[in-house]
Amino acid sequence: MSNTLYKGYEPVIGAEVHVELKTAEKAFCSCSTAYGNEPNRNCCPICLGMPGAIPCLNGEAVSLAVRAGLALNCRISEISYFDRKHYFYPDLPKGYQITQFYSPLCLDGYVTLSDGEKDKKIRIREIHMEEDAGKLSYSENGVNIDNNRCGVPLIEIVTEPDMRSADETMAFVNELRSRLLFAGVSDCKMNEGSLRCDVNISVRKEGENTLRARCEIKNINSVNFIGRAIESELKRQVDIIENGGKIECETRRFSESSGKTERMRSKESCSDYRYIREPDIPPILTDKEYVERIRAEMPRMPGEIKASMRKFGISDGNAGIICTSPETAAYFESAISDKSDALTLSNLFVSEVFPKMKDSKSILSPEKLSEISAMYSAGEINIVSAKKLIASVSNSGNSPREIAEKMNLFMIRDAETIRTLIIKAAKSLPEAVREVKKGKLGAKKVIVGYVMRETGGKADPVLANREVDRFFE
Ligand code: ADP
Ligand code: MG
Ligand code: ZN
Repeated sequence: MSNTLYKGYEPVIGAEVHVELKTAEKAFCSCSTAYGNEPNRNCCPICLGMPGAIPCLNGEAVSLAVRAGLALNCRISEISYFDRKHYFYPDLPKGYQITQFYSPLCLDGYVTLSDGEKDKKIRIREIHMEEDAGKLSYSENGVNIDNNRCGVPLIEIVTEPDMRSADETMAFVNELRSRLLFAGVSDCKMNEGSLRCDVNISVRKEGENTLRARCEIKNINSVNFIGRAIESELKRQVDIIENGGKIECETRRFSESSGKTERMRSKESCSDYRYIREPDIPPILTDKEYVERIRAEMPRMPGEIKASMRKFGISDGNAGIICTSPETAAYFESAISDKSDALTLSNLFVSEVFPKMKDSKSILSPEKLSEISAMYSAGEINIVSAKKLIASVSNSGNSPREIAEKMNLFMIRDAETIRTLIIKAAKSLPEAVREVKKGKLGAKKVIVGYVMRETGGKADPVLANREVDRFFE
């Protein structure tokens, strides 16, 4: 990964990533977590923090948080507690957020990034469970409060400050996202806020070992913006230092219109959260058997799937596309068969099927793709026909073979037909025939080209070449 130095300084970056867990119910009550409902419909006395309401921990949220921990190579604490973090803000009706401050559920994980040459380990300091707050929106009439999101279970993943460039940070967020997606922990949609990323960044002279003062950039809502925010923050901090200034610890935001970060507030003025142990929720106890049961159920991570693709000779680029989501990977893996070669299959999948999977138009089954790919590998159809066939089979109940028959897509592998065409070619291209006879064998290509054109590219090229050679013997 490229080290983006600016005037001899490197950025030092740590991330805090909030991820909504994919539970049907909220963390401490049985309200729905559905996104996009009418405001303040999915609420009850518990998630609104009415006096006397008692929260009850959702076991599904705990098991998803453990899955996240295992997907990120963490150790799962045998015992962990919830705490109350107090602050006043209109999106938090209880006046405090239930979180894990003193003893998080998952500790000491890591993610390995690989750019094909070197591996780089990004350490995960901890993953703790907490609840989401509500959502504010601003209109002419004032501020609207929607409490539907209050109490939706979240995990917060905190890294060590191990990243050294914008590229590395983007690669980390992509890797994290795809691991959590494959682990079934969350749908990880940055645009809907189910994955939100805060980036902490400081800069230091290359070779320096200590950490300098940092800024936190809050809630950047796409991977691309994370990269741009880091690039611009690196320059801003270096220029301040080079001009004799000092970096103030601040919370900043990224402005999409200016492409720069802007100050929100100083870190020093940060409030005292008065953390106390949450008295209404008993500790989470995870014994070995529970953790091992979840570990045994874990699906393969995208890195493992990519490694098996590499064994088939599939390029890293194609493997990356195949592993876009658990669905695309599952589709491809069920299309692989011993009849069609995996490389051909991956090229057809990436160019013809994958683009259609995004908007879930009717797509041919993996078995049919496999059959078409095998027909191509066996030389029964050419690449143009394979692509036509994929497009036609999508909307049809017939088998690829039936459709190929009907559309007349099979290669012409009948020597007699080819010979007839060669004779025709020789008549209409006397100049080429003379050239070949003079010894310019390259002119044979002209004759082959004629045959290919006449058959709409469907003449078997090996056969066509062989028959042209024979013609001139
Ligand atoms: P806070 O209490 O402000 O949340 P933390 O110690 O929990 O601070 O760290 C938050 C994040 O900031 C972590 O991801 C950590 O890796 C990162 N971080 C801490 N110090 C620095 C620094 N000097 N430069 C860059 N990132 C840092
Ligand atoms: Mg923190
Ligand atoms: Zn509720």
